[in-house]
Parts: sequence; structure tokens; C-alpha cells
Amino acid sequence: MQTDRELVLGLIEACHEAIVIHADDLCELDRAIGDGDHGTNMRRGCEAVYLDRERLCSLPLPQAIETIGMTLVMSVGGASGPLYGTLLIEIGRRLGTRENEADFATILGEAVDAVARRGRAHAGDKTLLDVLYPVQTEMVRQSALINIAKRAEVSAQLTADMKAMRGRASFLGDRSIGHVDPGASSCALLTTAICRYLRE
Ligand code: ADP
Ligand code: MG
Ligand code: MG
Repeated sequence: MQTDRELVLGLIEACHEAIVIHADDLCELDRAIGDGDHGTNMRRGCEAVYLDRERLCSLPLPQAIETIGMTLVMSVGGASGPLYGTLLIEIGRRLGTRENEADFATILGEAVDAVARRGRAHAGDKTLLDVLYPVQTEMVRQSALINIAKRAEVSAQLTADMKAMRGRASFLGDRSIGHVDPGASSCALLTTAICRYLRE
């Protein structure tokens, strides 16, 4: 059985690696329908978390997740920072106060709803929510980790068919169609990295 310490450290390293490797790709996606900085923003956030990893992995899992969320809010910079931050802060707080942490899917669902409220966005608006909601659905179904990761990847690709209704990409209107949403892509990358780590 893995300790909280190993789990937090492993997840931080896996997410950091995924974002560093793909930062240029995320910037390229964001150049098409945004301002080209999504990879840089996410890398800045992941670097901040990574540099703080020794302190973070000494915290109990719920506090570690909440603290990572606050670090992302402060360090990411773009619109994505407060959204990813909200996700993790809400997950951490709920994990900390819920007696039964077994139902992680319910906790994730509530946290994703909080992200939607924060961004005033809905499913189908071509945002990271279009990965988060399908991932949550797979978790409710108790799908295997490999299938959760696949669903995340497919869901990110499906945002290409959507018209952006929120964030900078929405300024493009119909011209946003045909491009994958950068935030959905980073969300799929992170989901895949987390699932791969948990399988090992
Ligand atoms: P910025 O647009 O400020 O440069 P980023 O490039 O880091 O920020 O992040 C852009 C991503 O954030 C988008 O691809 C989208 O997935 C997500 N996003 C932006 N605005 C919203 C919103 N209101 N609700 C949900 N997600 C959003
Ligand atoms: Mg941007
Ligand atoms: Mg920006």
C-alpha cells in the first residue's frame, strides 16, 4: 500500500513531466484559438508545484491537493489557473471533510460543478470541462484506468467540433471550430499521466 507521501510525490512528478514535455504543443493549440500561452502558463504552475514537492508530500493527501490548487491559482496566470485551482481546492476540501473517501467520483463531480460555476461554462462550451465531465462519468462507471485515460484523450479531440462559448477562443465564434481546445488537451494529458502513474 502506497503512503500519502509516495502518492503525492508520484502524482506531482507525473503531472510535471507531462506538462513540460507537451508545453510547446499546448502553446501551439492556444496560438490557433487563443493567445498562445497555455503551455507556458501550465508549465509555470507545474514548476511551482514541483519546486514545493518536498513540503507538499509531507502533508496529508487532502491538504496536499488543496495546497496544490492554491499554488496553481497563484502561479498559472491565465484563465486556466483559477479553474484548475478551483478543481483541486474543491477536491482537497471534500476529501478532508468526507468520512468516506471511497466515493471519489461524487467528490470529483461536485468539484467539476464548482469549476463550471467559476467559469460560467457548461458541457459543450469547448473548455477543459469537456474532458472533466466525461472523466467523471467514467469514474462513476468505475471504468478501468486505461479506459478513463482513453476517454479523456477522445474527449479532448472531440472539442475540435465545438464552437467556443467561453474564454478567449469564444471571440473567434465559428472560426474556433476545427481546433482542439488547449485546456481540454492539457486536461487529457494530465488525466493520462495520473492514470498511467496509478496503474504502475
Ligand atoms: P488565457 O485564455 O487567459 O490565456 P490559458 O491559455 O492558460 O488562459 O487557458 C485557456 C483555456 O482555459 C481554454 O482552452 C479553456 O479550456 C479554459 N477556459 C477559459 N475560459 C474558461 C471558462 N470561462 N470556463 C472554463 N474553461 C475556460
Ligand atoms: Mg492562453
Ligand atoms: Mg493568456
